[in-house]
Amino acid sequence: MQPVQRAEPQSFDRVLTSMCTEPHPKAREAAERFLATNPGDPGTYETVAQLEREAVELLGTVTQLENPAGYITSGGTEANIQAVRIARNRSQRSEPNIVAPDSVHFSFRKAAELLGVELRTAPVKNYRANVEAMNELIDEDTVGLIAVAGSTEYGVVDPIPSIAELAVDHDILCHVDAAWGGFFLPFTDFEWDFSDAPIDTMTIDPHKAGQAAVPAGGLLARSERLFDSLAINTPYLETTSQITLTGTRSGAGVASAVAAMEALWKEGYQEQYERSMANAEWLATQLRDRGHDVFGPELPLVTADLSVPMTDELRERDWRVSKTGAGEMRIVCQPHVTRSMLRSFVADLDWY
Ligand SMILES: *Cc1c(COP(=O)(O)O)cnc(C)c1O
Repeated sequence: MQPVQRAEPQSFDRVLTSMCTEPHPKAREAAERFLATNPGDPGTYETVAQLEREAVELLGTVTQLENPAGYITSGGTEANIQAVRIARNRSQRSEPNIVAPDSVHFSFRKAAELLGVELRTAPVKNYRANVEAMNELIDEDTVGLIAVAGSTEYGVVDPIPSIAELAVDHDILCHVDAAWGGFFLPFTDFEWDFSDAPIDTMTIDPHKAGQAAVPAGGLLARSERLFDSLAINTPYLETTSQITLTGTRSGAGVASAVAAMEALWKEGYQEQYERSMANAEWLATQLRDRGHDVFGPELPLVTADLSVPMTDELRERDWRVSKTGAGEMRIVCQPHVTRSMLRSFVADLDWY
């Protein structure tokens, strides 16, 4: 029998779409060392359980939260589901809803469906959450508000302090989704973190711009008590309860998150942000010079009015580019995206 032909692991040479990136060499090495460990069973795997506490501490440093509570999730999706679960469980409403801008990540649709929570989305203004429009959707069954810090499609940051104030006024949870933006935002003037606004919980993924190996997402909470309503008894483990959504979890993700953050916080991430932003600005200028309508970059992400067939042609030349819901070409300048990659991309655009 012929052996099955296996594809090479992903090469990032022409990937302009991914919110993930090549792991830092130290993150790769740490992931391998901890492959067989399970932070979901801290009584047995003490070392990785300790590493997870370090990961959460480091995420607290990045997001300006002292004594952070939280854990390393399988990704932004799990973190967002859990935030909605916290909002729902602590409210005890029979028909709960959450209010978010139209620009929220689709993981909130999964959360809403799974948890029986209605997701109400408000129209955005210039791609950003419109606080007035969100306010209009709030009623007595609203259990939480969602704000986005670095939207998936356009890379914008919502007016987070205003949304958090609105949540305080209604005594409901405020969750910030910084899954992708979280490792760029500390070097910007945006108000997005725990010191800028009275937010309760946040998603921030080391496996996106944090340069950790997949799977390493992050869920943070201002207080450990926020997790109380998630606790499930765990009869056969040495610990008595579990707040995570998944049971067995990736020790590799946890260890690589710590290794990446120890290697890169703070100067490494700052240099990366500056390089990625300069690349995104360069690309935006090149596209504008060619007469395209360009949005961004606010964070290292650019969209432009290049037609969808054009995007398909580029895919045939192995470029991985994606489009927004409105059909614009969308380029994410993640750490693996270099200036020379972008130069040859623009040269290919000119060829058409
Ligand atoms: C990527 C992303 C998510 C989902 O994270 P996964 O790790 O893919 O589950 C959620 N929110 C935002 C803003 C994202 O960019």
